Amino acid sequence: MRSTKIVATLGPSSSDQSTLERMFLAGVDVVRLNFSHGTAEDHLKRAELVRETCRKVGRAVGIMADLQGPKIRVGKFKDGKILLRTGDKFILDASLEQLGDQAGVGLDYKDLPRDVRAGDVLLLDDGKIVLDVANVRGTAIHTVTRHGGTLSNNKGINRQGGGLTAPALTPKDITDISTAVKMKADYLAVSFPKSGADMYMAKELMRAAGGESFLIAKIERAEAIPALEDIMKACDGIMVARGDLAVEVGDASVPALQKRMIRLAREMNKLTITATQMMESMISSPVPTRAEVSDVANAVLDGTDAVMLSAESASGQYPVEAIEAMSRVCVEAEKSHPVTLESDFLNRVFSRVDQSIAMAALFTAFHLKVKAIASLTESGSTALWMSRLNCGVPIYALTSQTSTRYRTTLFRDTYPLMVKYVGHDREELLAEAEKVLVESGVVNDGDLIVLTIGEPIGKSGGTNTMKIVRVGDHRKPA
Ligand code: PGA
Ligand code: MN
Repeated sequence: MRSTKIVATLGPSSSDQSTLERMFLAGVDVVRLNFSHGTAEDHLKRAELVRETCRKVGRAVGIMADLQGPKIRVGKFKDGKILLRTGDKFILDASLEQLGDQAGVGLDYKDLPRDVRAGDVLLLDDGKIVLDVANVRGTAIHTVTRHGGTLSNNKGINRQGGGLTAPALTPKDITDISTAVKMKADYLAVSFPKSGADMYMAKELMRAAGGESFLIAKIERAEAIPALEDIMKACDGIMVARGDLAVEVGDASVPALQKRMIRLAREMNKLTITATQMMESMISSPVPTRAEVSDVANAVLDGTDAVMLSAESASGQYPVEAIEAMSRVCVEAEKSHPVTLESDFLNRVFSRVDQSIAMAALFTAFHLKVKAIASLTESGSTALWMSRLNCGVPIYALTSQTSTRYRTTLFRDTYPLMVKYVGHDREELLAEAEKVLVESGVVNDGDLIVLTIGEPIGKSGGTNTMKIVRVGDHRKPA
């Protein structure tokens, strides 16, 4: 069994039902719909297909809608692309109407010339092309090519060190939030937030549209780093979005930032996804490189909830193999991940009743070496708190809410299960929970389990009881 979750981006390589089925069976936990590509229609259809495939293969796979955000891009070229050589002069011109050429290209973000000064360094196409800004005249940014290369349509632009002021939610993002709500996305990822305020704005828009997705902040701007705590308070989890982040803060800073972000997120009871280029070579190779294997394993050891595939599963040749490779690397790395409950545990600060029960259950499960923790949860929060510490015992989130079942798919060490119970009797519900665990093959007669539950039954946020049960005992005659 694997503790770390796998997120796979869907795209042309993973659009048909049979590939999706194979990906789900290979162990995908959450799929990412990337709103940087495709129409609202495409995404709604894809989401429908995902839900259908879940029913078919009998697995809960969550859906993450990922907003494009204010990614700043060059316009299109007459010939689709140009070749820039070192020393070439090149103009980025916000008022250029016609298609670009060797001399210059248009911009989708018209205010870029106001944000840029002589001496700035602009990084195009994830830093593959580097331009030095010589000067800015009106709407035209005059640059000299430091590192050349092929520049094609709509490639992204970042400024080294960050500091571009584009607002976090574009008009397109606001429309896409409604689409995400319509498909009942389990997670909504916001690209390029700079502050907690950006996340609150996304949350308000989502709530206003009737949505209840978990909110993920993609940390991919230099400004987001000093604002990490502020951003985390305003959301349910973060993505270590190493692609854009590395361009803004320098690639060498990213590994330490990844560790810091994951640690802080766990302390603040937030989720984490480690993303970008994890299995990059598998876009065109059936096996990962040694470095990629190490990268995935290290993210697991950092304590990430999930590792993510981008182009590997969206447009690569080996979407299923990439998932299988990721999965086996995670499982192996988890074996060497130290169970360090006690030191972490003692530093935890909490004052809520439900959280106290979650911590008590965790502590008990750890010491009694029980087979499983079963958390009867309406909102998923009990399972979330327990999964922030590595106690080495699997956590089963048993819920009657389909939305909660799907929103726990990202939690490390946590496995969602449905429990159908309509009554209000605690003992009956606990017996039902035990039955679900036995039927799912998770526990057998004689195993010890720790259960958490809230009374009155069915009220959200009301966990106030822990019970230790030996499976099968209540079926024995007294
Ligand atoms: P993207 O985000 O794939 O949407 O660009 C991830 C990243 O920047 O790493
Ligand atoms: Mn990005």
